[in-house]
Amino acid sequence: MSFKTDIEIAREASKRPIQDIGATLGIPSEHLLPFGHDKAKISAEFIAAQKDKPSGKLILVTAINPTPAGEGKTTTTVGLGDGLNAIGKKAAICIREASLGPCFGMKGGAAGGGYAQVVPMEEMNLHFTGDFHAITSAHNLLSAMIDNHIYWGNELEIDERRVTWKRVLDMNDRALRDTVTSLGGVANGFPRQTGFDITVASEVMAILCLSTDLDDLKKRLGNIIVAYRRDRSPIYARDIKADGAMTVLLQQAMQPNLVQTLENNPAFVHGGPFANIAHGCNSVIATTTALKLADYVVTEAGFGADLGAEKFMNIKCRKAGLAPDCVVLVATVRAMKMNGGIAKADLGDENVEAVEAGCANLGRHIENVKSFGVPVIVAINHFAGDTDAEVNAVSEYVATQGSEAILCKHWAHGSEGTKELATRVAEIAESGASQFAPLYDDSLSLMEKIETIAKRIYRADEVLADKKIRDQLRQWEAAGYGDLPVCMAKTQYSFSTDPNLRGAPVGHSLPIREVRLSAGAGFVVVVCGEIMTMPGLPRVPSAEAIMLNDAGQIEGLF
Ligand code: ADP
Ligand code: MG
Repeated sequence: MSFKTDIEIAREASKRPIQDIGATLGIPSEHLLPFGHDKAKISAEFIAAQKDKPSGKLILVTAINPTPAGEGKTTTTVGLGDGLNAIGKKAAICIREASLGPCFGMKGGAAGGGYAQVVPMEEMNLHFTGDFHAITSAHNLLSAMIDNHIYWGNELEIDERRVTWKRVLDMNDRALRDTVTSLGGVANGFPRQTGFDITVASEVMAILCLSTDLDDLKKRLGNIIVAYRRDRSPIYARDIKADGAMTVLLQQAMQPNLVQTLENNPAFVHGGPFANIAHGCNSVIATTTALKLADYVVTEAGFGADLGAEKFMNIKCRKAGLAPDCVVLVATVRAMKMNGGIAKADLGDENVEAVEAGCANLGRHIENVKSFGVPVIVAINHFAGDTDAEVNAVSEYVATQGSEAILCKHWAHGSEGTKELATRVAEIAESGASQFAPLYDDSLSLMEKIETIAKRIYRADEVLADKKIRDQLRQWEAAGYGDLPVCMAKTQYSFSTDPNLRGAPVGHSLPIREVRLSAGAGFVVVVCGEIMTMPGLPRVPSAEAIMLNDAGQIEGLF
């Protein structure tokens, strides 16, 4: 059987004018700032005027630990949003914007897949409304102003060896990871070693996604620590006087983007912070706006629930005063098999035993999500080769865990394939069963917060951190940063820090390699293992296959 590609399906979409989509949410056309016919930003004035309206129900889509088999969180987010609309509910979805890095690197778009996609998918995956370019520019303006400050006499006494603010680019380019700037003589400044991160790893991205309005944005930008003096005292972006101009560059980008699904339902696509050194979900302003305009908002958190859902709840919800009413945990038969020890090449053969063995991973995520007080339901994202016996094995297992699993066929059938899930999710969200609370209190020490996550979510026995790291955390506490949440950066493939340890491992330790303070975003990043903030391209990048055909259409983009 052959399937249409995502881009072929997207191209056949019958899109409605974006004003019609806005109208379904009650947004008057003068408050939609159109980018072409099918994309628009929602005006800041309109958003501000919604402040006192009641909020709808918030549904988080998360997943088991990812495997190369693919899980389909975005696809399920889109499918569930369409499913809720199909059963007569007023629902919107909120997802992240795409980075150019993965687009041209490994195959895999950010707009969903099959018959559960957001359109225009080409633009959503490419330049879209320019938000990432604005973030890149704002970030690099600060970089330029730091070097310029040093050039013109360095009044702030920046230690050139301790400039922590790098430059960014929205591209996978390993050649720029470590660089030397200001080579070429006196007129070019003072040479120093630095590097580039990918734009989605920029603290400016995390800040844009956590800010509630432009004032909050400016304050947070000013709080960014860019360098240290010889006496180790911090220098902030506001000391460089960059916060005002950065805010100007980000003014448009702060307004959320509205597009539509293949079934013409509203989709907010805004912001895209890295899920490792940042919190990995779309902007607070998009989510809160969607909640004012729709009765149900379905949103996604990056990676598996051990990282994505944990940060969604402990960082985003805590900071923005949000509380999820229901969590949908996406699982696939294929990923269960991989967690059960089957190699990717053998996923095509029926293997109920392997499915059963892999279910331990799913079970732990169910338990973890429940520990936040939120009801959880499992969506089995159906792939064409899954057998009934395998699907039943997952459903039966989930039932033993005090939850329920629903088979979903949105990838193949759109909303027709998620009506049952949508009906149950709406019932759960309306039931008032959610008693959401973050996992830890602001007042715990930073190390206690890390330990809470390590033990209660990862089920590690201990946290390993040398004196230097413990001292650093205490120093930040003394400097007034003790009540920040922590942002864990570890492999997405396992509960542990070993990507090969699938299933539900116990008895492991969590070694901390490094801690970083994102003072503007408002969290302490805890790096456990190798974390790449500037990815490279694979041997055969997908860029090699992307081109325009004779009709001027994009080919090869998923
Ligand atoms: P995630 O958000 O978890 O990273 P996506 O929803 O973006 O995953 O899906 C990743 C890829 O898997 C997409 O290319 C999508 O088309 C594909 N995919 C998702 N669900 C299915 C399915 N049920 N059958 C086949 N392919 C799927
Ligand atoms: Mg996704």
